[in-house]
Amino acid sequence: MSDKIERIKTLIIGSGPAGYTAAIYAARADLKPIMYTGMEPGGQLTTTTEVDNFPGYADGVDGPKMMMDLQKQAERFGTEVRMGMVTEVELSDKPGGIHKACVDNATWVEAESIIISTGATAKYLGLPSEQRLRGGGVSACAVCDGFFYKGQDVAIVGGGDTAAEEATYLANICSKVTMLVRGDQMRASKAMQHRVNSTKNIDVRFNTEVDEVIGEQVVEGLRMINNETGEKEQIEITGLFIAIGHKPNTDIFKGKLTMDDTGYLITEGKSTKTNIPGVFASGDVQDKIYRQAVTAAGTGCMAALDAERYLAEIESEEGEEVKTTKKVEA
Ligand code: NDP
Repeated sequence: MSDKIERIKTLIIGSGPAGYTAAIYAARADLKPIMYTGMEPGGQLTTTTEVDNFPGYADGVDGPKMMMDLQKQAERFGTEVRMGMVTEVELSDKPGGIHKACVDNATWVEAESIIISTGATAKYLGLPSEQRLRGGGVSACAVCDGFFYKGQDVAIVGGGDTAAEEATYLANICSKVTMLVRGDQMRASKAMQHRVNSTKNIDVRFNTEVDEVIGEQVVEGLRMINNETGEKEQIEITGLFIAIGHKPNTDIFKGKLTMDDTGYLITEGKSTKTNIPGVFASGDVQDKIYRQAVTAAGTGCMAALDAERYLAEIESEEGEEVKTTKKVEA
């Protein structure tokens, strides 16, 4: 048996909309992409029920079905999709350098280019009642699921920009939005706070936390607790949105790629280039603002185009070097 390390032209890490879109473009450009899916093949959308806002699905689509469609489309052009988790990377900082990735703490592969689309994971409170009702009225994405609560009363947890933005989004659709902020003030920007405060059907409760989400199969209510007085209050709601932040899945890149203080990868200008030549980042792993399937898909496309240009430049530089060497030899 040969112990030669496999050499991949384009390695894609992660299998959400960004990864699959990168795979479709990379395969069509003959970059021979190989994708490692990660622990949750299909990414965040596999935990969503219906997706109504991805262009092209006129009647909506189930999240898992959409991800299977994307996988089939990527495979149709020759992407090889492999189950496995990249657990470590060694990146070369030289243009044209070969990067290394370890899969499942066991097998190393070499890659001429890497597209990182490992996404971000929404944070939850961790209450048993909240976990039980995920998908039954508890959601971490108002833009994805808010529409299902049209004309109904909902609540949102969090006081950052996301919570403020999602509260105003929900207020347009729902009859009433109760916003639970655990501190005595919001962390959101002043402008966002102003928007929240001037929206009549948002009821902001400071120093308030979730005590329990009420309901067996679906959310029927919420018991809140004032963390200063200990006073509890129950309200009737059908949807609970958790907006307390996301954690980008970048632990394996710490100290190897430039990231912001919350761990999101930083890309150069309007490109998907990281600080390492030949390594590109797409989707939620580099986007804490928009975080939509369609924006992730858009940056996946960009990453494949950036990788294609990078590899073409490296090839032509290598071609030039060979010509020059031959001339010198002659
Ligand atoms: P943030 O980390 O900014 O805010 C998280 C919020 O959730 C805080 O109010 C925090 O409370 C609260 N929180 C955290 N844990 C809990 C908990 N266990 N129980 C109750 N509340 C909790 O996250 P965001 O997602 O809001 O924003 C992330 C980044 O993205 C920020 O830099 C933000 O500015 C940016 N962003 C910008 C947007 C824009 O410009 N349009 C839109 C969306 C995001 P506490 O303050 O007490 O810690």
